[in-house]
Amino acid sequence: MSTIDAPHRAKADRPAASPAAGQPLYADRVKVYPKRVFGRVRSVKWAVLVACLALYYVLPWLRWDRGPGVPDQAVLVDIAHARLFFFWVELWPQEIYFLAGALILGAFALFAVSSLFGRLWCGFTCPQTVWTDLFMWVERWIQGDRNARMKLDQGPRDANWWTRKALTHGVWLLIAAATGGAWVMYFNDAPSVTHAILTGRASLEVYFFFALFAGFTYLLAGWAREQVCTYMCPWPRFQAAMLDENSLVVTYRDWRGEPRGKPRDAATGDCVDCFACVHVCPTGIDIRDGQQLECIGCGLCVDACDSVMGKLGRPKGLIAFETLRNLSASAAATAAMPPGEARFKAGMAARHLPRFIRPRTMMYAGALAVVSLVMLGAFLLRSTLDVTVIRDRAPLFVRLSDGGIRNAYTVKIVNKTREEAPLALVLQAPEGFRMVVQDVPDDAEGRPLLSRRADGIAQYRVLVTVPGGQRVADSTPVTFRLLDATGRAVASTSSTFAGPRP
Ligand code: SF4
Ligand code: SF4
Repeated sequence: MSTIDAPHRAKADRPAASPAAGQPLYADRVKVYPKRVFGRVRSVKWAVLVACLALYYVLPWLRWDRGPGVPDQAVLVDIAHARLFFFWVELWPQEIYFLAGALILGAFALFAVSSLFGRLWCGFTCPQTVWTDLFMWVERWIQGDRNARMKLDQGPRDANWWTRKALTHGVWLLIAAATGGAWVMYFNDAPSVTHAILTGRASLEVYFFFALFAGFTYLLAGWAREQVCTYMCPWPRFQAAMLDENSLVVTYRDWRGEPRGKPRDAATGDCVDCFACVHVCPTGIDIRDGQQLECIGCGLCVDACDSVMGKLGRPKGLIAFETLRNLSASAAATAAMPPGEARFKAGMAARHLPRFIRPRTMMYAGALAVVSLVMLGAFLLRSTLDVTVIRDRAPLFVRLSDGGIRNAYTVKIVNKTREEAPLALVLQAPEGFRMVVQDVPDDAEGRPLLSRRADGIAQYRVLVTVPGGQRVADSTPVTFRLLDATGRAVASTSSTFAGPRP
C-alpha cells in the first residue's frame, strides 16, 4: 500500500509491539490525512487551542510595574540578574526549590487528571497536540480537506502542487518563527528583543535559541506529528500505570456497533463501517480495534461518529468517553441479544455512573494537597532578608603578637527588597570577644553599621578577636545578629570561633 492511497493506517500497516520472526523491525511511516470534523469535542478543542496559544504568545508582552530599575515584564526569567519574575512573585536562585515544587505539583495534577479522564492532557493541552492541530488547520486551509490533499499528493508535481506546498510551508515557518520568538521573550524584555531580532542586533545566544525553537516547532508539528506521540514521547508508555477500569477513555461500544454492516440490514449493529471515525483521526488509527497506544484521546472520532449516527437517526455515543468497566458491563448485559433497540437499551441500562472517588484518585488528590500546602507555607514564610557567615578555614585562627586569637569571617547580607536602610551588626559571644568589621562606620553605640544593598547581596569582612591571656576553647559558638534602626533583630546566623586545641 502506498503512503498516498492509504485510506487510513490499517492495523496491519502499523509496526507490531514485538515483531514476529522474519518481520522487519522498521516500518515506513504511513502518511495520515485527517479529515475536517465538526462537533462538541472539536469546539472544545478549538477553545483550548486558542486559549493555550494566546497564553503562550501574549504572556511575555504583559507588563507589571515593580518600581524603578526593575524589569516591568510580568513573566521573565532574568538570567543576567539571576531572577525569576512571575507577576508579583520574584524568586532568587537559592529559591529554585519553588520551581521544583511547581513541577512536582504539575506531575501530580497530571497523574490525577489521567486517572480520572485518561489522556486528556495528550488530546487537548499537550503542546505537541496544540501546535500540530494548528499546523493541520493551515494545511487544510491551503491544500483542502482530506480527499483534496490526497489527490494533490497523488497528482503531478505541477505549479498547483508547488504553490500550495510552498504556501503551506511558508505559513508553517512563520508560525514556527513566532513560536521561537515568543520563547526567547520569556528570557529577555519582549519589545527590546523583538526589535533586536528584527534589526539583526540580537546576541548570538538569542538567535541560537530562536532558531532552535522555531526549527523544532516546524519539524515536530509540521513533519513528525503523530510520530512524536507514538515513538518519541515516554508519557503514553507509563500513563497506563495511572489508568484503571474506572477512568474515562475514548472507546468504541462494540456491544452496540457489532456486527458492522449496511445501515438497512436489520441483522447488523449500529456501526455502518463508514470509516468516518478513522478518517478524522490525527494518528490514523481505528478506535474500533480497541485501546491503543497511538490513541491520544482527542475525541475527534466521537464527533465524527455522532454526526454519522445523527444522519442515520440513531442514538449518538457509539464512540464515547466511557469507562472500561461500563463497556464490560454493557457487553455482558447484551451478550445474547440481537442488534436492535432492545439491545441498545439493555446495554445503556447496565452502565454505572463513573466513580471519581477511588483510592487511586484520593492518593493523587492527597499528594496534590500536601505539596500545595507545603509550597504555600514555604512561600508565605520566605524571608526577604538573609544573613550568612562563612568562617575562614585556612588558617583556622591567627595568633596575634600580644597572644590574642583572631578568626576572620565573611558576612553576606541577601536583601530581596528594594529597601536600603543600614543595619547594625552585633556579636553574641562570651565576655571578652571583640568584633571589627573592615571599612564600615560605627553607629552612635559603637556597633558596625552594614548597608544592605537594595535587591542585591552585600559582603563584609569581619574579624573577631579574643585578647591574650583569655582562655578559649577550640570551638566556641557565636551568633551574628542584624538589628534595624529600632533595635529589632531582623536576621541572625550562628557560627563558631576556632581556638587552639588544648
Ligand atoms: S482514535 Fe479517536 S480519540 Fe484516539 S486519537 Fe484517533 S480520533 Fe483521537
Ligand atoms: S464513524 Fe461510527 S459508524 Fe462509522 S465506522 Fe466509525 S464507529 Fe462505525
